[in-house]
Amino acid sequence: MEEKHIVKILSVEQDTHDVKRFRLEKPSGYSFIPGQATEVTINKEGWLDKRNPFTFTSLNAWDFLEFTIKIYDEHQDVTHQLGLLEPGDELILHDVWGAIQYKGEGTFIAGGAGVTPFIAIFRQLHEDKTIGANKLLCSNKTVADIILKDEFTDMLGENFINTITAENAAGYDHGRIDEAYLKEKIRDFNQQFYVCGPDEMIAAIQQALGNLGASAITVEL
Ligand SMILES: Cc1cc2nc3c(=O)[nH]c(=O)nc-3n(C[C@H](O)[C@H](O)[C@H](O)COP(=O)(O)OP(=O)(O)OC[C@H]3O[C@@H](n4cnc5c(N)ncnc54)[C@H](O)[C@@H]3O)c2cc1C
Repeated sequence: MEEKHIVKILSVEQDTHDVKRFRLEKPSGYSFIPGQATEVTINKEGWLDKRNPFTFTSLNAWDFLEFTIKIYDEHQDVTHQLGLLEPGDELILHDVWGAIQYKGEGTFIAGGAGVTPFIAIFRQLHEDKTIGANKLLCSNKTVADIILKDEFTDMLGENFINTITAENAAGYDHGRIDEAYLKEKIRDFNQQFYVCGPDEMIAAIQQALGNLGASAITVEL
């Protein structure tokens, strides 16, 4: 039977200008693999028929659950409504399912909120002291859009690489992730690639990686 857990929001914090961190009660015995997601419903009249997928960004060892969610106010839909919620409000969580899973050291490529499935993966690797030579390549419109900028910098150092597409920002690469950029940033294409972002970005990067003799595990977000 399908799982259904009603959980209270414990805290809401702003990460970037449009990304919020929601910490939630954790049902007893609840567990997931870093990178897994669940469908979330807002437990309020008028919203009970909507289910949107979000990835857990907490670790199993924590005593609360966490989601890191980009709020699209212009959609006037679920994420806009999530952005209005406060501690004490409730969410309904459904079955836990796989979005993406760690399969060994490699390069993670994310567009915007596409980094969210990688948060728990990197936090777990960091916790286990096995982050090794894993790299995270993020593409965002502006520097202000970079999710968990300080934490990723602490965890990954020089292996946290950011390219910015909509402004020229000192100290950051400028432009989209394409074949030339991948060649500039990656020496060995015989490694694991993970790509998460909008469908057009995944298609373009898959094509570029294919031309370079590599393939990737992908999640469309
Ligand atoms: C496996 C998986 C895991 C995910 N994990 C996360 C996560 O951890 N964090 C995260 O932030 N996101 C995550 N997402 C993405 C997230 O589910 C969506 O961003 C979210 O559901 C969007 O909901 P929404 O209600 O705001 O808008 P939508 O469902 O995109 O759209 C709702 C309404 O807005 C309208 N609309 C759509 N686009 C526009 C537009 N450009 N302008 C105006 N109106 C528009 C539509 O017509 C529709 O009426 C994940 C997705 C998947 C598949």
